[in-house]
Amino acid sequence: MTDKKTLFIDGKEIEFTDEPNLLEVIRKAGMNVPTFCYRPDLTSFGACRMCVVEVEGRGIQSSCTMPPENGLKIHLNTEKTRRIRKTVLELLLANHDKECLTCEKSGSCELQKYAEEYGIKRIRYPEKPVEEYLPIDDSSPSIVRDPNKCILCGACVRACSEFQGHSVLGFANRGSKTVVQPMNGRPLGQVDCVNCGQCVAVCPTGALTIKSNIEEVWAEITNPAKTVVVQMAPATRVALGEIFGLPAGENTIKLMNAALRKIGFNLIFDTNFSADLTIMEEATEFLERLKSGKNLPLFTSCCPAWVKYLEDHHPDMLNHLSTCKSPMSMLSPVLVNLVPKHFNVERENLVVVAIMPCTAKKYECKRPELTENGRPDTDFVLTTQELGRMIKSAGIDFNALEPEEADSPFGEYTGAGTIFGASGGVAEAAVRTAYEFATGEPLKDVDFKPLRGTTNRCRDVELDIKGTKLVVRVVSTLKEAEKSIQEIKNGTAQFQMLEVMACPGGCINGGGQPRSCDDSKIKAERAEGLYEEDAELPIRKSHMNPSIQKLYQEYLEHPNSHKAHELLHTVYADKFANSYRDI
Ligand code: SF4
Ligand code: SF4
Ligand code: SF4
Repeated sequence: MTDKKTLFIDGKEIEFTDEPNLLEVIRKAGMNVPTFCYRPDLTSFGACRMCVVEVEGRGIQSSCTMPPENGLKIHLNTEKTRRIRKTVLELLLANHDKECLTCEKSGSCELQKYAEEYGIKRIRYPEKPVEEYLPIDDSSPSIVRDPNKCILCGACVRACSEFQGHSVLGFANRGSKTVVQPMNGRPLGQVDCVNCGQCVAVCPTGALTIKSNIEEVWAEITNPAKTVVVQMAPATRVALGEIFGLPAGENTIKLMNAALRKIGFNLIFDTNFSADLTIMEEATEFLERLKSGKNLPLFTSCCPAWVKYLEDHHPDMLNHLSTCKSPMSMLSPVLVNLVPKHFNVERENLVVVAIMPCTAKKYECKRPELTENGRPDTDFVLTTQELGRMIKSAGIDFNALEPEEADSPFGEYTGAGTIFGASGGVAEAAVRTAYEFATGEPLKDVDFKPLRGTTNRCRDVELDIKGTKLVVRVVSTLKEAEKSIQEIKNGTAQFQMLEVMACPGGCINGGGQPRSCDDSKIKAERAEGLYEEDAELPIRKSHMNPSIQKLYQEYLEHPNSHKAHELLHTVYADKFANSYRDI
């Protein structure tokens, strides 16, 4: 007796197990049907009707909502299914601003792609008059919203609600007047959006796009008076290659260094270096809190979306946040203070650019606490996607580049720095250092594998630091973080450290990374790329980084010193109390 379950796709027998819908079975079999609204990480919505299939005896069905059944006979491309898809496309295009040439998503827009694949040359329906077009919303520091390109697939609404537990975006009005908009029709920059960009990552069209800073950065690079320095976050190196046809997870850091030099950046440093610096400060802070018993559990503070969420929704919990700036915002003031001395550059001619997997970093760099004399420490943040476009527009053959190293002294890093890019990485890096700081003994096995993972969004790991039992909790998505906050508030929390990353799986899946929403395997492969680099590096503990040790000897004195506090720590405030919390 066998439990084997099969169905037939275009006459071919396909085995299935626990796939939630026909579309997943179709994909598992190496085939596909088009869809705008289906995203494997989100609930099925069945809104766009592009994924229709013909099921013998059942007629036309949306494959994203129909569960697989033993013996079903399915046909993907019949006269009827193709006619329905073409009609859907024509109706969407009749309502759509078709200025594709100037659209940010041109080339990666799914509507454009399917219109071409289905040979749509003529639209039989009356087109929306230009007078009815809605204004573009440019108010967010991270995202541009063009409602005229929205096809009402609802993916952004589900991403915001299911990942972040937020309802920043929602449907409004009815019938032909239906729109997706921020709450109460307010501009996106005036609601409690945390800028995570997960809505952008799932949007199939140019309705939600990353706010680009490419042109400003080119203007600085091509200005001979300027010295433009760049740093890049851990997660970018295992995703950038995807834009150039390399597999997800392939570590392209040395090609990135070469590409950045060819583009014209003057000095190339690495945010992995300051991830090590973050650990020096955060591990010390954690041990101090454990000793005093105050402000526990400690919350990590690297993710600006998480920090903003806490400021917006739980200002009474801000004392739990580590006062450490994020690695990006630690490195920038170090560069602003030390590059002029080391490299003989005038401060006013120094421009700091950061390449991040993250749209929220565009917001972070504008925080007033992260400025000096009115000038941001980080002048511009570019996402991995934007760097990919710059490399292409500079005519660089990425895959033919010769590998190059970053510049010294802010380019050296340990394995602990590199794993920051994956959910659990910050906690693992902190534990490696905290153990040795607390015990004075070498940690033999630095791999804390239970802290790792891209699918389980909440993990508790019990650790033993020479008799002291600790529980570290790792969560990704703010929806999960909110559950942990409620545990703390109702007195049931049993953990002493809480690592939070707003994006599912951590920064490897940030809103600025190459789009991956149709393949959840990509997240795991990117994380694996980081763990492989960690395993291969000769030094895997942040406090063993010789450049970090030198920085403390020559400049910062010791972790949590007065100087370190001035440069590397920040404060948080209930700064949004009078703006939108009253909506
Ligand atoms: S950026 Fe994040 S919080 Fe803001 S609307 Fe999009 S998903 Fe929601
Ligand atoms: S903004 Fe994008 S993701 Fe959201 S409903 Fe419109 S097309 Fe879909
Ligand atoms: S998890 Fe990483 S990429 Fe996502 S918002 Fe936070 S810092 Fe940015």
